[in-house]
Amino acid sequence: MAPKPWQDATVERITVETPETKTFRLALPEPIDFVCGQYVNIRFEFPDKGRVQRAYSIDSSPTDREFVDLTIRRIEDGTISRHMCDEIEVGATVETRGPFGKFTWTPDDGGPLTLIGAGSGVVPLMCIIRYCNDMGISDIPITLLFSSKSWEYIIHRDELTEYESKMPNLEVIHTLTREPDCDKVPYHRRIDQEMIAAHLPADPLCYLCGPPQMCEGAVSDLEALGVDPGRIFVEKYD
Ligand SMILES: Cc1cc2nc3c(=O)[nH]c(=O)nc-3n(C[C@H](O)[C@H](O)[C@H](O)COP(=O)(O)OP(=O)(O)OC[C@H]3O[C@@H](n4cnc5c(N)ncnc54)[C@H](O)[C@@H]3O)c2cc1C
Repeated sequence: MAPKPWQDATVERITVETPETKTFRLALPEPIDFVCGQYVNIRFEFPDKGRVQRAYSIDSSPTDREFVDLTIRRIEDGTISRHMCDEIEVGATVETRGPFGKFTWTPDDGGPLTLIGAGSGVVPLMCIIRYCNDMGISDIPITLLFSSKSWEYIIHRDELTEYESKMPNLEVIHTLTREPDCDKVPYHRRIDQEMIAAHLPADPLCYLCGPPQMCEGAVSDLEALGVDPGRIFVEKYD
């Protein structure tokens, strides 16, 4: 199969999500077909480093085919994330290619869905939630267990609250790892087996995304709780 071509996308909108994260809406030259959980590559040419490319999960719903939203956390010594967050403005061109990835969910896969994310790992999980909202899918229970540093650093915080009020099948559970005094969330520690067990439905279909350590720990916890390994899907952002 021929490799997917690079295309010039145009930055249409930039939203500041948290002190270190922005969402970039990339208007595409041609409509894209993708499924929840997939990612695109973006690339830039730097005078000192040459051509550099990175993967970013698609944050927007597959119901929107004219653009993709990418939510990017700025890494202090990062190449592409810093370039995107510091230099890129509305109207800029970003070379884009995709979609790619096997970390996918479609309604045919069913549920009940247990989504476990940390930091920017919420992105492909948000895509699933947005898609279910857009498609009016209300018969698949969805639980999102979401770990963030602090209240201020919860990506899509207000939007998740809004979806939770609109979608009776959605429950969002936040845990904060670096703000022990925040009384707006039920947990103040890393995701662990006890936390997962408290929110695990029978025979869940699990999607985990975030740093490798979080993903590996949560997979062990799910397996220890009796979840079928064939129903656990992982995307590590390493
Ligand atoms: C399939 C896939 C989807 C992804 N989706 C997203 C997404 O939706 N949003 C998002 O923000 N990122 C996402 N990532 C991570 C992204 O691809 C880059 O790895 C990240 O943005 C860092 O790239 P960089 O060029 O800025 O940093 P680099 O130049 O690659 O790294 C600079 C330094 O930062 C360290 N570093 C790299 N990544 C991380 C990290 N995640 N946390 C802490 N330190 C790190 C490196 O070890 C190095 O020291 C995804 C990764 C994969 C594989």
